[in-house]
Amino acid sequence: MALLFGWRFSFFSQGVKMSERPSKILIQGGRIIDPAHGRDGIGDLLIENGVIRENFPPAEKGESNGSENAKREMHRIDAKGMIVVPGLIDLHTHIREPGFEYKETVATATAAAAAGGFTTICCMPNTNPVNDNQSVTELILEKARTEGVVHVLPIGAITKGSRGEELAEMGELVTAGCVAISDDGLPVMNSEVMRRAMEYAKIFDVPIIDHCEDLNLTGDGVIFEGSVSTSLGLKGIPAASETVMVARDIALAELTGGRIHLAHISTAGSVRLIREAKRRGIPVTAETCPHYLVLTDERVMGFDANAKMKPPLATGQDLEEVRAGLADGTIDAIATDHAPHAPDEKNREIDHAPFGIIGLETALSISLSLVEEGILSLPDLIGKMTVQPARILGKKMGQLGPGDIADVTIIDPNVEWHVSVSDIKSKSKNSPFLGWNMKGRARTVIVAGKIIENKWT
Ligand SMILES: [Zn+2]
Repeated sequence: MALLFGWRFSFFSQGVKMSERPSKILIQGGRIIDPAHGRDGIGDLLIENGVIRENFPPAEKGESNGSENAKREMHRIDAKGMIVVPGLIDLHTHIREPGFEYKETVATATAAAAAGGFTTICCMPNTNPVNDNQSVTELILEKARTEGVVHVLPIGAITKGSRGEELAEMGELVTAGCVAISDDGLPVMNSEVMRRAMEYAKIFDVPIIDHCEDLNLTGDGVIFEGSVSTSLGLKGIPAASETVMVARDIALAELTGGRIHLAHISTAGSVRLIREAKRRGIPVTAETCPHYLVLTDERVMGFDANAKMKPPLATGQDLEEVRAGLADGTIDAIATDHAPHAPDEKNREIDHAPFGIIGLETALSISLSLVEEGILSLPDLIGKMTVQPARILGKKMGQLGPGDIADVTIIDPNVEWHVSVSDIKSKSKNSPFLGWNMKGRARTVIVAGKIIENKWT
């Protein structure tokens, strides 16, 4: 199946089958960045039976001890000049299976994730049927086990059918394996329903991932409301559509003490509200997406539907404030909001095309450009794509300590590449970055000790 998408697995050890993994892997001479342990330095990383055994300085090398036999069993990866980090974790992927397999499947989404350096993706529940009960969660997990190449963590719906009316059985969803609860794609417009959801989420100790949008303010808006929407004659979505819901849900988090995670933050007003809420100790976390860090509503000037998403690309001032929020810790994580749509859907006129863009394969390179620009340090950036998402979920992941699961990403920071349709592993190609030149890419991902070598043209 993987070969169908031009995807190639490569195991250096002779005779290793795809479903197997070398018992020992030594990643040698890379710059290891492990934000959870405050580590950043050149060294080796030893993996044994799918878990991290040790990360140690080059002087020890691990080669002096052990028999000749043991040395032969060791699978070595030369990582000189590379950056070795915990496997990236995406809090926000729309896999589209079940129900919309023509846009994306578990197989293609996880292949795209691996190509982008992600070893874990959390999938939003707006499938068909909606993931609002145990049987859908189990179906996704089974698909992930049999067809996925990276870890898939399902997110269950807040309300039945994500209709915003009646709460789904949260306990059942969490027991079945959901790691968070969200109606993403849609907000929960009824504040009383949202309050009760937060109270339940507290009992089950899962975060609510909040798609902040006031549907009445959005109306039939297409792009951000401002000078660009006026000049193009397109209906606008005001910044307040996001910020009023951010304000409401901060108030509800304060009322209930429930953990709330605010998805895809895009406006200056939201960043200010979150900063103030954190200062007051309210249990709120937030993510933004790479596109809000490098694109503004000017990108829509050519009526390109690949620049249409929710929330919409906003102004340069918003972009600057989102960057500042990322740098000062107001925004905890970078997530992709990977939202595949088929070409015939996105090729419609911009007012009729669906909202959303893909992002798994470009997120790392775009984020690395922020380091080049001096917006944040490389360890900070890696933290926002590894241990921070893990902490938001309350999971011990995204770190490279002894005993941790061997999810590792090896980044080539200098490789230059061009975003092209033929290169994209995702089933859908709706990226606003098509044609861009990028720098830095994940060369290898290791998923629980299984090596996936990314081959690109
Ligand atoms: Zn959303």
